[in-house]
Amino acid sequence: SPYPVRLSGKIISGFGRGSKELGIPTANIPTEELPEFIESGIYYGWAGLQSSECGSSSDKGDAVFPMVMSVGWNPFYKNTVRSVEVHIIHKFPQDFYGAHLNLLIMGYIRPEFDYISKEALIEDINKDIDIAIKSLERPPYAAVWRRCFYKIES
Ligand code: ADP
Ligand code: MG
Repeated sequence: SPYPVRLSGKIISGFGRGSKELGIPTANIPTEELPEFIESGIYYGWAGLQSSECGSSSDKGDAVFPMVMSVGWNPFYKNTVRSVEVHIIHKFPQDFYGAHLNLLIMGYIRPEFDYISKEALIEDINKDIDIAIKSLERPPYAAVWRRCFYKIES
């Protein structure tokens, strides 16, 4: 298994597809460092955000949350550019564009589907969120978290 897969990047503006209006904001990061074997689809893992309380550039100070991540092709760019969008499973008081996001991808959930309605899409994302939370709760996964977040290089 290639997992855990590390990926990090600075949070950029997305395509304004209104993820926030669905109640599921997604932090977009550039895809240059995305390994090629990560194909389109939905993944889960952890997201580390530099915590202002720790106030340093050290990843040891990251606040870590479960996340679900969507990797897809953006048709707007004629299929030459992929997008990576991460929904962090936590309620934040404000936006954090420009922040550095450290991801630890732990597994693949499903391919991307087309939906007949917004409601169907939201329902599926909520299932993904449940899967992510339940998977990551397992003790061996928590051990990976401790080992890997400690070692992420800036
Ligand atoms: P965009 O199209 O610019 O990505 P979104 O509607 O997807 O806009 O909102 C994403 C932004 O919302 C993120 O860049 C981040 O600053 C903010 N945000 C707030 N809460 C979350 C969260 N739980 N997960 C991801 N991003 C969040
Ligand atoms: Mg987004």
